[in-house]
Amino acid sequence: EKTSVTLLGLGAMGTALARAWLAAGHPLTVWNRTPARAAVLAAEGAGVADSAVEAVAANTLIVACLLDDASVEEALAGTDLAGKDLVNLTTSTPAQARARAEWARERGARYLDGGIMAVPQMIGVPEAGGYAFYSGSPELFEQHQETLGVPAGTTYVGKDAGFAALHDVALLSAMYGMFAGAAHAFALIRKEDIDPTSLAPRLADWLVAMAPAVHQTADQLRSGDYTQGVTSNLAMQVAGTPTFLSTAEQQGVSTELLRPYFELMRRRLAEGSGEEDLTGVIDLLVH
Ligand code: NDP
Repeated sequence: EKTSVTLLGLGAMGTALARAWLAAGHPLTVWNRTPARAAVLAAEGAGVADSAVEAVAANTLIVACLLDDASVEEALAGTDLAGKDLVNLTTSTPAQARARAEWARERGARYLDGGIMAVPQMIGVPEAGGYAFYSGSPELFEQHQETLGVPAGTTYVGKDAGFAALHDVALLSAMYGMFAGAAHAFALIRKEDIDPTSLAPRLADWLVAMAPAVHQTADQLRSGDYTQGVTSNLAMQVAGTPTFLSTAEQQGVSTELLRPYFELMRRRLAEGSGEEDLTGVIDLLVH
């Protein structure tokens, strides 16, 4: 027998989650603030609750996928969460997630926070590789892992309810750094007779080739020895930075994306860390 699910929130992501559970044969009760969005899913087999109170009462497993933490607060106000398993897939900060976990505990519910590493088109498509980070109640996770795994993969990252959000934000922050680098790369060729579609595959391949460097960074952080396995030391890399800045200048491209990172490299070098990898920059970021 498939676990019955209540889903609060039928935005782009909520609707995709709903369809995945329906397709897998899970009895589903949905609620959305704007009722029109639920009508489509009713036609696909979902039960539609008239209120969040009714939706929460319908099942033990309650999944919320709303805009932000404030909307979770608003939607769940007045619902009876005693004995419920609340899984909150709404993007929030670690602090919000921890506070929400405590809030749920006070109301007698087990709590699991989630951070979805997928876009709606990847939901219910295992080959797409989408997954969600989960943190909070290990018992809830263990009991419902199979059901939670229907829309996307599941990766449990710890009892601290804030850890899913922290992993989510960490990965997305790194992504923005990558996008910033790619933006600079495209800017460098913008005024030249170079087709951006010829640069793109080279850029993508290079980023993929460089990505495994994060394993060495992690090993160095764990050992505390930032010279471990170094092939391109900080002194050499800082010596190379004028080439990047001059090239940008010659191409009429702003250095505003590159400079902050180069400045951190330079500061770390000034502390006498020339033989190290780039890992010491991390210590300069942490207050
Ligand atoms: P949408 O903007 O499409 O939907 C937002 C949902 O929240 C709607 O159901 C909306 O209801 C509801 N809502 C907003 N405010 C309130 C409120 N005060 N009370 C009750 N309900 C409210 O967002 P998504 O579905 O795309 O995203 C949902 C969550 O999933 C977000 O936290 C997002 O960060 C996360 N996520 C989304 C991804 C994506 O690519 N879309 C990727 C990864 C995570 P109504 O219809 O009435 O407006």
